[in-house]
Amino acid sequence: MFPFPSAWRRPHAAGDGAVLPTRATAASGQRARSMARIVCWLLLADFVFCIGFAVWTRTLAYENDIAQGGIAVRHLADTALSHADAALDRTAWMLDGVADRIVANGAPAVADPGLQRMLAARIGERDTPFDSLAIVDRAGHVLATAGHADRPGADAGRRAALVHHGAHADRGVHVGLAPGGQALTVSRRIDDSDGRFAGVALASIAVQYFQNDYRRLALGRHGTVALSLADGTPVARVPAVQVDVRPVPIGLATKAREVERLHDGRRSSRYPLAVDAALGRDEVLADWRRITWQESAALAGEMLAVYLVSFWLVAQMRIRERLERTLHSTQEALELKNAALERLAHTDGLTGLHNRRHLDDRMAAEVGRAARERTNLSLIMMDVDFFKRYNDTYGHAAGDDCLRMVAGVLAATVNRPADLAARFGGEEFAILLPNTPREGALAIAEAICRGVEAIGVAHAASDHATVTVSAGVATVVPAPGDDARALVEAADAALYAAKEAGRNTVRA
Ligand code: GH3
Ligand code: MG
Ligand code: MG
Repeated sequence: MFPFPSAWRRPHAAGDGAVLPTRATAASGQRARSMARIVCWLLLADFVFCIGFAVWTRTLAYENDIAQGGIAVRHLADTALSHADAALDRTAWMLDGVADRIVANGAPAVADPGLQRMLAARIGERDTPFDSLAIVDRAGHVLATAGHADRPGADAGRRAALVHHGAHADRGVHVGLAPGGQALTVSRRIDDSDGRFAGVALASIAVQYFQNDYRRLALGRHGTVALSLADGTPVARVPAVQVDVRPVPIGLATKAREVERLHDGRRSSRYPLAVDAALGRDEVLADWRRITWQESAALAGEMLAVYLVSFWLVAQMRIRERLERTLHSTQEALELKNAALERLAHTDGLTGLHNRRHLDDRMAAEVGRAARERTNLSLIMMDVDFFKRYNDTYGHAAGDDCLRMVAGVLAATVNRPADLAARFGGEEFAILLPNTPREGALAIAEAICRGVEAIGVAHAASDHATVTVSAGVATVVPAPGDDARALVEAADAALYAAKEAGRNTVRA
């Protein structure tokens, strides 16, 4: 066998259908991925913003509600204290009246029926805070009483008042808690006409009175109101149960029996009384808590919905992108296959040169063009010498190799883009040379003859001992309307002449 330079091998048929991702499909995949990434970042930013905004607004609302709670507690303390002050005002005013009447009537005397009547009349007035009255002279004799004058500790209370006012010359009222803690004792000094200490007028206000009053305040479940003397002695408390109501600055929540409260305290400016009020922190924040839960649930729902919709959109995008990619690949595979088919339809299977059909098409076109442009059109017809004998000697497979060798020489020699080397049929080849004069065509034919001869494939049955070819050249300037037939016949005749002339030669 003889070696075949790689350039001779028949051009490779089209690709076998393996589809590689092209630039377009890769770009669309890239686009889908970066879109998904952008959506992810947007979602994240949205979530962070929504949560941050919600936390901010709820924090503001919390601070506002705590401040409102502080105001409510202060109002509560103010209200409770003003109720206590009003009760003491009325009692003090009543005691002033009684004391003035006694002074006007002279020093208090034992068993004065006028005194008794006066006290009964005061007790009988409507909605009085005090429920007992007494007048005691400087020696400690009870001159007159009205109401619950014999309550436990009443005596001790009267003595204490007497001692106090005996030692204090002022006419202001003295407030103290009666021993036993059931009533507040309010007392006032009585002077005789000479301005000397003559005794005291006392009234007591039942602790229950304040308790009933404070029960009407809106305290909620955990609110408390406590009335105490200025020295801290507890007087009345609602609810009655003992709870830790130490005064604490507003806003500072204290823990008492697991209940946190907001506290505020008030001191009376007129009487030695103080009020501490408190509201349950949970109750103050009940609305805030409910709204915070509702908003959180709404926000979580909204974020979930946005997440699901985005997830769905990205999934749709991915599906679409995958479909596009498949479509692209399929399209490209199809195009490659079409191109391969097209090439195959123009190609001779054995030699890889153009086939007869393509030669005929091109020849018709080139005849027309040469006629229009008035240019030379040359055709070389080429035939392997003694090829029947070659086949007979070496076999058909070797004959086919020989034809491929000749085709290789043709392909290597014919190199202008417009030139066309084709297998005409059997062991005959044709070379169409547009715009080429006779001399040029002769030179090419001669070069091919010499090229084949130079390869020197042994042909024992040939007169030349190696494989050779003969060539006939024809050149025309076709007239308009001519077809290729005349050109082919002329080249064929020249080929015949070359054969006649001993083969391995060129004739025109
Ligand atoms: P000449 O020098 O006069 O051309 O002699 P020749 O033997 O080549 O004569 P002819 O042109 O009549 O012979 C053609 C032979 O070429 C007939 C056939 O055996 C052979 N042939 C034609 N096509 C093929 C082919 O495709 N492969 C092979 N191996 N042989 C072919
Ligand atoms: Mg032949
Ligand atoms: Mg032949």
